Amino acid sequence: MDAFTKACAWLFPQYCQLCAQPLGAGQQICSHCINAFVGINAALQEDLLLRADIQRQFPLRHIDSLQALDWYRPPLSTWLKQYKYQQRMYRQVALSALLTHHFARLASLPDWHWPHLVAPIPLAPSRLIWRGFNQVVRLWQDALPQPLFAANLLRRRHGTRTQAKLNARQRRKNLAHAFSVHADVRNLDIALVDDVLTTGATLDSAAKQLKAAGARSVSAWVVCLTAKT
Ligand SMILES: [Zn+2]
Repeated sequence: MDAFTKACAWLFPQYCQLCAQPLGAGQQICSHCINAFVGINAALQEDLLLRADIQRQFPLRHIDSLQALDWYRPPLSTWLKQYKYQQRMYRQVALSALLTHHFARLASLPDWHWPHLVAPIPLAPSRLIWRGFNQVVRLWQDALPQPLFAANLLRRRHGTRTQAKLNARQRRKNLAHAFSVHADVRNLDIALVDDVLTTGATLDSAAKQLKAAGARSVSAWVVCLTAKT
C-alpha cells in the first residue's frame, strides 16, 4: 500500500462503521445497518413533540415539531464528537447517510410535507474562525434536498457566549435576540437544523425570531437529543 492509499484509507476507511463489512468507495455505513438502525423514532412519528416524555424534557415554546435520529448516546454521540473535534470526516458521511435514510422514510408518510426552507443554526463568528467552517451545515447539506437549503437565513447578532457552561436560564438570557433573519419568511414553513439539542434554548430563540419575522411554522431537526438524567 503506498502512502497516498494509506492516507485515503485513514481518511475514509472502506468498511461499515457499524458492522465492519467491506464497502465500496464513498460509503461509510452499509445498507443493512442503515435499514436496521433503530434510533429515538422507531415508530416513525412525524413529530417527536407528540411524545409526552420528550415534550416534558424539552419545553420548546416556539418550535412546532421536532425530529431527531437518536438520544445523545453511542454510536452517534461518539461519531459527532470525532467529526467535530477530531476532524474525522468519514463520521460525517455515516451520519449524513443515516439522516438521508430517516428523512426519506418520513417523506413517505402520507401527511409529511417538506418545509419551504431549511436553515442551520449559525455559529458565532469567533467560533467559525476557530473551526474554519460550520460542520453542522455539511452534515445536513449532504442529507437533505439541496433546493431547501438556506445557509445564510439566520445570522448571529453579536458574540453570544458559548452555551456549554451555562444553565437553562442563563442560556435563554444569553440568547435573547441573538439571531437576525435575512430573508422574507412570511407564511413559510422553516426547519432549523442543528447537531445536538440539549436544553433547546438556542433553537427556541431562533424559532422565536423566525416567528416574529412572519414564519408560519418552525420545526427543529437535530441529530441527537440529550436526555435529562
Ligand atoms: Zn454495516
